Amino acid sequence: MEKKNFWFFEPASINENIRIGLFVKKKLFSKKTPFQKIDIFDSTACGKILVIDGLIQVTQADEFIYHEMISHLPLLAHPDPKKILIIGGGDGGVLREILKHPVDEVIMVEIDEAVIDACKKIIPEISQDAFKNRRAKIVIGDGFEFLKKNSDLFDLIVVDSCDPHGPAKKLFDQKFYQNVRASLREDGIAIYQSGLAFSQEEVKRVFRINCGVFPVVEIFLAAIPSYGSGPFTFTIASKNYVPSKVNSDELQKKIGRIGLKTRYYNPYIHQASFVLPNFIKEYL
Ligand code: SAM
Repeated sequence: MEKKNFWFFEPASINENIRIGLFVKKKLFSKKTPFQKIDIFDSTACGKILVIDGLIQVTQADEFIYHEMISHLPLLAHPDPKKILIIGGGDGGVLREILKHPVDEVIMVEIDEAVIDACKKIIPEISQDAFKNRRAKIVIGDGFEFLKKNSDLFDLIVVDSCDPHGPAKKLFDQKFYQNVRASLREDGIAIYQSGLAFSQEEVKRVFRINCGVFPVVEIFLAAIPSYGSGPFTFTIASKNYVPSKVNSDELQKKIGRIGLKTRYYNPYIHQASFVLPNFIKEYL
């Protein structure tokens, strides 16, 4: 009997005393893979949602915020990005946004093919036709192992992984970040989702380890309602560009040239997102 009309709660949000919950009309999919538990629910407030090991990954209602910020901000901060690597990103949202740019190739390394298959089938609205794009190359494998063996050089590496648990844990290690740096061209940029601003241990860890690997490391924020409990952080690292310093007129010209249409990202959001409240600056 299909499970219907129930509350879904994450096991814990920033701590075990706060739990994000969504009222669900119907469970659409559920599968335990060798890597993780995948669920897809149809929620009343946020449309279809992808949940991995109990944690909300993307919702139809607000995925555009996360996917636009993790894609367009670094791509527009780079002068001419052509070769892109995504690690994780199984729902296809980052791939969809990156392909709006005139890049030559996007390689996506996703450890669990079941995530791609389920999202393509049940929430195709997220990837749209990104997986069919001839510039996209999908590799099923561990992003950590891929980078260890990789000799290619990328202009941008996007780490769109789950939070540091299960198969994603090693994507938050110094060795991984060193391999990221080794796989970037001289003017390459890396970007990571680094968790909720109030989950300071995760933010500090990503920021500080990257400060030991890259000369330029910055944090920017976005408000993503389904990631509850306050602002969400992204950590961006580069060998020589300062993404927060990109001129807004320059950004506007690039957006015009590409004909980029967005619902959240714009040149002023780009600059404003790097303005950090004191409590974050203090703990970094
Ligand atoms: N936007 C979400 C967030 O911020 O939490 C992440 C979405 S995406 C669904 C996360 C993806 O990372 C999942 O599909 C998962 O299978 C993948 N993943 C986890 N560990 C990985 C690894 N070591 N290599 C490649 N992909 C990995």
